[in-house]
Amino acid sequence: MLPFNKPYLTGKEAHYLYQAVYSGKISGDGMFTKKCHQFFEEKYGFKKCLLTTSCTDALEMAAILIGIQEGDEVIMPSYTFVSTSNAFVLRGAKIVFADSNKDNPNLDADQIEALITPKTKAIVPVHYAGIACDMDKIMDLAKRYNLYVIEDAAQAIDSYYEGRPLGSIGHLAAFSFHETKNIQSGEGGMLAINNEKFAKRAEIIREKGTNRSAFFRGEVDKYGWVDIGSSFLPSDIIAAFLYAQLENLEEIQRRRKEIWETYQQGLAPLAAQGKILLPHLPNFATNNAHMFYVVCNTAADREGLIAYLKEHGINAVFHYLSLHKSVYYTPKHDGRALPNSDFYSDCLVRLPFFYELTAEQQNLVIQTISAYFTDL
Ligand SMILES: *Cc1c(COP(=O)(O)O)cnc(C)c1O
Repeated sequence: MLPFNKPYLTGKEAHYLYQAVYSGKISGDGMFTKKCHQFFEEKYGFKKCLLTTSCTDALEMAAILIGIQEGDEVIMPSYTFVSTSNAFVLRGAKIVFADSNKDNPNLDADQIEALITPKTKAIVPVHYAGIACDMDKIMDLAKRYNLYVIEDAAQAIDSYYEGRPLGSIGHLAAFSFHETKNIQSGEGGMLAINNEKFAKRAEIIREKGTNRSAFFRGEVDKYGWVDIGSSFLPSDIIAAFLYAQLENLEEIQRRRKEIWETYQQGLAPLAAQGKILLPHLPNFATNNAHMFYVVCNTAADREGLIAYLKEHGINAVFHYLSLHKSVYYTPKHDGRALPNSDFYSDCLVRLPFFYELTAEQQNLVIQTISAYFTDL
């Protein structure tokens, strides 16, 4: 069976893991964590980076940092991973779900303003598939209504909006290094802080509400409990693994883009016949080749396609069930229909996509999809 994902080892991981283990310091904020922070700050110009144990944790830190309280409203797409919402729900927020664009699953920036109320505290754009949301429109609304913008950049490493790295535009941004993302550490994530005013408190929240980071830098002579917090920092073993990946970022991205282009070209004839929709990249966005998806015309088409691929030894998957229709949130949702979100929930299929996918395997996927729509 051709898997949907296969974690990629660049070759240096075991070496760095060994170094980390024998360095004598394997808890958080060791040498490899510092190397990772520096890499991101230098390459993408994030003001301050903090590795976390997941993107979920980075989002939870963001919710604490912007002071979310019971009854605050947070606007985000319904078509996203549960963590985008959970992080704010845990602080007592009410989630106001926005619909996706018609031609891409990102939240429709033109619909946000109508959802803003005096209780709105933040907008959380999710750069789906690493393709940028309309950040100028979102940042303009944030400025006019005095809102925070937290970028869910889980899928968006090394992708750009009008030349600006995703994750560098909002006040805060959360990245994921889960094994399904471009750059991996098994589980792992990062909070990018673009507004200096959050930097100090972020360190404290990440270190169980203590000023231990300042203590280690010699800025205070003892550390103690100064704020709320949790244990959001990863062991240096995770960072060691991640650093091996970062050293190979360019090669990983080169190959992933090649795979992406092959899918795009191979499936273009089906798109031209109106059998499927292919990813749409707005002019302001770049492609970081996080995933390749096709959108079927109907839910029945999708169900048939996934089953057909499975019969032929190919594991394709779908994801994101509109959160406004989830078991947990339906009773709390204000009842608005979000048809584009539902459309992607019903019709989108993700194709096998990983660094080591071979040309033959990829060709098989393309041929099998083509055969399905010809047989139909
Ligand atoms: C993967 C993902 C997350 C969660 O990342 P973790 O590192 O697994 O916590 C959150 N949001 C989006 C959009 C994701 O794709």
